[in-house]
Amino acid sequence: MTTAAIEAPLAHAQATLRHDWSREEIRTLFALPFPELIFRAQSVHRAHFDPTEVQISTLLSIKTGGCPEDCAYCPQSVHYETEVRAEKLMDIDAVLAEARAARAAGASRFCMGAAWREPKDRDLDKVCAMVEGVRALGLETCATLGMLTPAQAERLKAAGLDYYNHNLDTSPEYYGEIITTRTYQDRLDTLANVRDAGIHVCCGGIVGMGEDVEDRVGMIATLANLPVHPESVPINLLVQVAGTPLATGRRLDPIDFVRTIAVARITMPKSVVRLSAGREDMSDETQALCFLAGANSIFYGPKLLTTPNPGRDRDLRLMDRLGLVPMT
Ligand code: SF4
Repeated sequence: MTTAAIEAPLAHAQATLRHDWSREEIRTLFALPFPELIFRAQSVHRAHFDPTEVQISTLLSIKTGGCPEDCAYCPQSVHYETEVRAEKLMDIDAVLAEARAARAAGASRFCMGAAWREPKDRDLDKVCAMVEGVRALGLETCATLGMLTPAQAERLKAAGLDYYNHNLDTSPEYYGEIITTRTYQDRLDTLANVRDAGIHVCCGGIVGMGEDVEDRVGMIATLANLPVHPESVPINLLVQVAGTPLATGRRLDPIDFVRTIAVARITMPKSVVRLSAGREDMSDETQALCFLAGANSIFYGPKLLTTPNPGRDRDLRLMDRLGLVPMT
């Protein structure tokens, strides 16, 4: 498909939401000359968002390590020898203290992550109390707890959960190289249960896991063709953690990472696209390109679950240099 041939669908994308993206269209977007791709992503971004605003979330690991799943990138899996030590579910008061600190540091959303295949009902009692407490502090709430049944999603909704994170990780074709303990369809089922319960969906993936560009095309096509676009789309750059199967391997060209952000922005115009894991090793200039490509959310704080994240000072300096302000 020529550049001109996707003018019409792109103009349409700025005005409406589409759920019928073909892989050919998305492949063409990935292959556009970089200035053209960034221009288009900025145009779509400005049609829906203030380009100077960045939504800030904080992520806390409320239950660390000991996870029975085998996600090849994850140091919390019991299948791999890593430096992560398993810890039990945190106490509610300790979580609320962290939420207060996050609010004081400027976060508007507080995400709680637990390394479970799926939550047990007695664990969910405690998580629901955390959600209620965090909400009472005036923060938006988000949780990532593994697979959910429809009933569990309803319980979290009743507790006041605003967002649920459950990533697709990669394309359907590459998925089996990364995880064998649950299927792609399991993930889609949880996303449907969350959506049906009336909770906003946070769903994205990870790039730099040895996939090729066609897998990035497939991942974006799956996300953009969900019945409703995820309200939040985290795009993570693999953090290579010692002891995991993905600890070594060729690092992704940063320009290919920026391209993935831009294509996510164009195909899901109203979603908040989050620059997530991998920022610690990313230059300020690459992050600036990601903001130009339409990223408008970051995780704030020194740790993302168990992997390092830039310190608050570095983020504040970068936002200041770029003239960006926290989204209110
Ligand atoms: S990514 Fe989540 S589900 Fe997968 S091993 Fe890590 S904690 Fe478990």
